[in-house]
Amino acid sequence: MTVNSLEALDRRHWVHPVANWAGHEKRGVTVMKSAKGAFITDADGHELIDGFAGLWCVNVGYGHESIVEAAARQMRELPYATGYFSFGSEPTIRLAAKLAELTPGDLDHIYFSLGGSDAVDSALRLIQFYYNVTGRPTKKAILSLERGYHGSSSTGAGVTALPAFHAGFDFPAHVHHYVTPPYAYRNPTGSGDAAVIAASVASLRAKVAELGAENVAAFFCEPVIGSGGVIVPPKGWLRAMRETAAELDILFVADEVITGFGRTGPMFACEAEGVVPDMMTMAKGLTSGYAPLGALAIGETVYRAIADNAPAGGPVGHGYTYSGHPVSAAVALEVLRLYEEGGILANGQRVGAYFEERLATLADHPLVGEVRARGLLAGIELVADKVTKEKLPREAKLPDHLFARGYANGVIFRAFADDIIGLAPPLCCSEAEIDLIISRLRKTLDDVMALPEVAAALKTAKAA
Ligand code: PLP
Repeated sequence: MTVNSLEALDRRHWVHPVANWAGHEKRGVTVMKSAKGAFITDADGHELIDGFAGLWCVNVGYGHESIVEAAARQMRELPYATGYFSFGSEPTIRLAAKLAELTPGDLDHIYFSLGGSDAVDSALRLIQFYYNVTGRPTKKAILSLERGYHGSSSTGAGVTALPAFHAGFDFPAHVHHYVTPPYAYRNPTGSGDAAVIAASVASLRAKVAELGAENVAAFFCEPVIGSGGVIVPPKGWLRAMRETAAELDILFVADEVITGFGRTGPMFACEAEGVVPDMMTMAKGLTSGYAPLGALAIGETVYRAIADNAPAGGPVGHGYTYSGHPVSAAVALEVLRLYEEGGILANGQRVGAYFEERLATLADHPLVGEVRARGLLAGIELVADKVTKEKLPREAKLPDHLFARGYANGVIFRAFADDIIGLAPPLCCSEAEIDLIISRLRKTLDDVMALPEVAAALKTAKAA
């Protein structure tokens, strides 16, 4: 089948996730064909370095034969075993035990989902169940960070605080409330670490005071906000938020769907601050995108309370056909082996430090307002004016130009709608591959800056 006919079929039949439908019909699909290591090649033979690891998920890189073999072996032996009827399979049981070992503290109970959204959804549903069966049914409000992203399930989209995921949809808005994020670059009360931490803690306290602790169930947060523009908090922020939530008697849920599995250095970002959440969600790097899988790790207190207080003999009525799919579990076990025994976690830590250094060199570019990174997770915020931090006008269409020029220059990154570049290279990258990402990125920034509509709006360049 030719690429042309694939394009026609795609236009007619595939509704792409988070796409502008009419825009996609006009633009058409870019068919991807093959990938190896940190590189992906499209159907026209154009090879790109994947600075975004797919969708911040292909942490171990593309083309690992050992993962393919693990999946094939499991498919041959037992492609499916339900978790219902108290059935199980060896890889799923071993994976649950391995995740219990890897996650911090007493997060020893693992509920499997198919991805991140339904891991968050599972957390929400089980939190409701937990409070209802332990006699605190008024604790319903869910707090999360402004600019936070937690997926797009029907209940989880409310935890997400990005306008595009709310506009035009209905969700129980009265349940969802938002807290000030650790956004130093645009924090109105100052950019020092202490001020940024204090702003979020005060906002969390104020929200709980406003709603009444007896009405608040939980606080969800990403240790580093991803889709909201890669907002890297100061060290100490996560711990301060965790301690405040405990003090206010609300559950603390760390959403490590992006930050998990070495993305920011340690296996989980919570580890860097000795934080043990009540629940943790994970997906993406768990299988490095080789198969769909997510998980919710549940701490002892919540798990025991549900086990001991659920109506006798009745189900905890939450489950999926593919909860704990054995093929995905076999893939995850091999991916986890590659992080540890295969040295990919250690490589990511070493190269992550190098990436942070090299990325910082882009700060001198006239378009760049701020570069922020933790390990192999980074954001570059672009502005028209470095001093006032004024954004470029929407009409300059910066994200569209950035993505298109980056693609032409052979580098993939995320170009967020509010002029922020997101980067998440695979953990298997070498220093030379990081250099390639940075040089192609700089060329892309130069190319975009030269476009008449961008040049006309750029105040920094005019002043220089
Ligand atoms: N939580 C976070 C922090 C995410 O970044 C994402 C996806 O990007 C999700 C949840 C949802 O995961 P999924 O897309 O696998 O449903």
